[in-house]
Amino acid sequence: MIQFEGNQLVGGLWCSDILAALSQYIDGELDAPAVAQVNVHLERCVNCARFGADVSSMLASLSRQRPELSRERKARLMQVLSAEAERNRPVT
Ligand SMILES: [Zn+2]
Repeated sequence: MIQFEGNQLVGGLWCSDILAALSQYIDGELDAPAVAQVNVHLERCVNCARFGADVSSMLASLSRQRPELSRERKARLMQVLSAEAERNRPVT
């Protein structure tokens, strides 16, 4: 299992920014520059790459789902991600 090395700044965003922005990202509430920035972070950040691949595939499947189905998928995705964030929280 890969250790989470904590928050890092990649592509102008911190990992915590990604987690914070992800629900808006999924809901399509971010504007294009913000989405591009999130994508850059997900591509380059080794921390986020772990679940970034899952996020990408889930986002891809979301875009093929009807809205009433995607809400459930989104809820599940956010559950996975918050569990991930909880596990990765540094002990201070
Ligand atoms: Zn990251």
